Amino acid sequence: MDIISPVEESSVYSQRLNLSPDLQVDMLRLDLLHPIISGNKWYKLMYNLEACRKASFSSVLSFGGAYSNHLIALAASAKEFGMPALGVVRGREMAQNLNPVLAACRDYGMDLVFWDRADYARKNDPEVLAGLHETYPAAFIIPEGGANAEGCRGAGMITKHISGTYDYCVLSVGTGTTLAGLRNTLPISTFILGMAPMKGGGYLKESVRGFLDPDADSGWDITDRFHEGGFGKSNSHLSDYMDLFYRENHIRLDRVYTAKMMLGVEVLIREAYFPPGSRILCIHTGGLTGN
Ligand SMILES: *Cc1c(COP(=O)(O)O)cnc(C)c1O
Repeated sequence: MDIISPVEESSVYSQRLNLSPDLQVDMLRLDLLHPIISGNKWYKLMYNLEACRKASFSSVLSFGGAYSNHLIALAASAKEFGMPALGVVRGREMAQNLNPVLAACRDYGMDLVFWDRADYARKNDPEVLAGLHETYPAAFIIPEGGANAEGCRGAGMITKHISGTYDYCVLSVGTGTTLAGLRNTLPISTFILGMAPMKGGGYLKESVRGFLDPDADSGWDITDRFHEGGFGKSNSHLSDYMDLFYRENHIRLDRVYTAKMMLGVEVLIREAYFPPGSRILCIHTGGLTGN
């Protein structure tokens, strides 16, 4: 399977460099990997699909909200693997008039089942999982967002695209799996800052710790200062910033994750959070299908 196209690092803030004259701000363009299986989602899926095939499961099953980047990435990559896929979607009402993301999942051949929100909230309960195994005995079950050990190990492979040495690595977090994979593989001298795009995102620190190697629990943090109203919420401030960022850098950001991250990076630069001379790598985790 060859879906990995070259990843570029580009210097951002070129026109407003007066903002950060002595900072180096680069971006790792994981959004360029693939039009649909973009960003970190492919890395979180690769070892999952491999594990699924090795253990001779004949299909793959996972979970997501109605605009899930994970489900659409799974639908597209399972198709490339020639493996049937099943998506459990949050919200029964989503079955009527499929939105473009779910319609694309179905076009890739994914079967969709719709759970009401109360059932969906219990999707990680052992009982519920046992029930799923009974109903779909041939299916390999991947948690929502690819948040398992295979997902974390795959996310660690992102490091192989990082050639320079950085003092900071900044990325958006959803489950924290990607952050953990990077913490396990990047030099500990690179501080990793996760930007949570939801209110109260501090709870993610526990999930990250669950995936960290024993010697990797230092040199990282998560802030939820830049949630801009909460998960999936947007506002004119954020859209204006996305437009400005595109005009300046010709790089599109997604409104759920990466726009909030870059907005946060800019605020932190203004606050002189990064000491002079810092080299900062921002990871563009993709997500543009959501736009
Ligand atoms: C899913 C996603 C994330 C979150 O990744 P986690 O590994 O769950 O923390 C970040 N950015 C984008 C664009 C995503 O689609």
